[in-house]
Amino acid sequence: MANDTSAPAGTKAMTLRPWLRRLEETGRLAIARPGVSLRHELGGIANRLDGRKATFFPAAGHGGMAVVSGLLSDRNWMAEALGLTSATLLGAFQNAVARPVRWVETDNAPCQQIIHEDGNLLPLLPIPTHNEHDSGPYITAGLLIVRSPGTGIQNVAIHRLQVSGPRELGALLLPRHTLAFFNEAEADGRDLDAAIVIGVSPACLLASQAIVPLNTDELEIAGALSGAPLEVVKCLGSELRVPADAEIVIEGRIKANARAMEGPFGEFPQYYGERAKRHVIAVDRVTHRRDPLFHTIVGGGLEHLLLGAIPREATILSTLRRNFPSVRDIHLALGGVGRYHLYVQLGSHNRGEAKNVIMGCFAAHYDIKHVVAVDQDVDIHDPRSVEWAVATRFQADRDLVVVSGAQGSKLDPSTDDGYGAKMGLDATIPHGAPEMRFTRIRVPGQEEIDLAARIDPDATLATIPGWQP
Ligand code: MN
Repeated sequence: MANDTSAPAGTKAMTLRPWLRRLEETGRLAIARPGVSLRHELGGIANRLDGRKATFFPAAGHGGMAVVSGLLSDRNWMAEALGLTSATLLGAFQNAVARPVRWVETDNAPCQQIIHEDGNLLPLLPIPTHNEHDSGPYITAGLLIVRSPGTGIQNVAIHRLQVSGPRELGALLLPRHTLAFFNEAEADGRDLDAAIVIGVSPACLLASQAIVPLNTDELEIAGALSGAPLEVVKCLGSELRVPADAEIVIEGRIKANARAMEGPFGEFPQYYGERAKRHVIAVDRVTHRRDPLFHTIVGGGLEHLLLGAIPREATILSTLRRNFPSVRDIHLALGGVGRYHLYVQLGSHNRGEAKNVIMGCFAAHYDIKHVVAVDQDVDIHDPRSVEWAVATRFQADRDLVVVSGAQGSKLDPSTDDGYGAKMGLDATIPHGAPEMRFTRIRVPGQEEIDLAARIDPDATLATIPGWQP
């Protein structure tokens, strides 16, 4: 289905707690009995129900706080939480990125109802350990908010955060925006103020993953996605602004000239990110709601894959459309961990254009490794349909594009530290082919038949007149 680029921003977007109630009302929330272990058992239960039910763990761990996981582990749920449909999701995200909405400040901030000026991260927060070789408890659904020392504009991103000490976190900062702002501060010998926000709206979670230029505050994209300015509050110890209705806020600083061991940690490709010296965050205080919810994302689960995939799809689609009006829709397949495999659906296009599109895809994001281009009769959200196109329209000596020695994902263990190959498969119908050769078989009128009117649910073989089984 083509994306509707005229889709308005969601005006019925739900915040976290209403979304949780919606999941419960519609049979999509599993509530655990008390006493589930934070070490592996909580992640195991969440994984078993992944994509079918979100999970809620009352009084998890020793501090008595509730934990929730799998809030957005389905593409349709993400759309629904934003008041959209699957078909309008990417268009609405593109519009939100193009037209951010400035946040407004409030003094009435639930996230600051309770203030802990001292005290340790554990056992205050129920921070779980998920995968087998994870080095220990990790905060996995925390929006890390920092501010450019130069422009004062904020950046919002999710980074994996290892509990390294009673009041210390280890952070993996890849060479993106958080690191750019920190490097500015560290060059002057200063720490960089940071806030880690846990338990935010679906719009904030998705907006945090937007691929946008440096000096774009992702909280403004969250506002545009929700159709209303996001209410923010100033942190107690810094100039940072955080979503006022968040569940939990950890205030601290990314420390200048400090590095410590972090990892391993189970990542989205279903492998471990390696242990190495990484950045260090000192915790200054924790604020939270009176009855806070701790959101955790199980590494490698559907929520992890989809949160990365959907905003990327929106950005990559915008990029491709600028050069290729024939591109109708794209999909980052879950089998390709929502990052590495891109399916592209083309409308009417020129001879050879599918290969140009494939090369454009490689350039759109370095994570993209394999691209399959198909025609518009192929459902790119159905891997079987894409495989059918490869099986019946693709010839390797004619339709294969291979690029050696390109930049890829460092987390893909088959690369040489991110240096590897790209492959494109042009599975579109060859130009000039006789029409009948590639006409897909179909029974005319099949979809229009009213099955309820034509099938008799009460009939048995024994009741058919004049016939005995
Ligand atoms: Mn950014």
